[in-house]
Amino acid sequence: MKVTVDESLCVGCGLCETNCPEVFKMDNGVAKVLKSDGSGCDVKSMAEQCPVTAIKVEE
Ligand code: SF4
Repeated sequence: MKVTVDESLCVGCGLCETNCPEVFKMDNGVAKVLKSDGSGCDVKSMAEQCPVTAIKVEE
């Protein structure tokens, strides 16, 4: 699995870091991916919850 954040779409709401601190970390107003394999979090659900669909999850 590969998790990425499109920083040009991210609006910095912080939801992904709040829900999945193992995988996402806010940095300068955008979400960064700490663990691109997404382990420790339901990243597919998180991708659906992102308000601007900036989170992509590839199988
Ligand atoms: S949930 Fe989406 S918009 Fe919000 S910080 Fe994470 S990637 Fe950015």
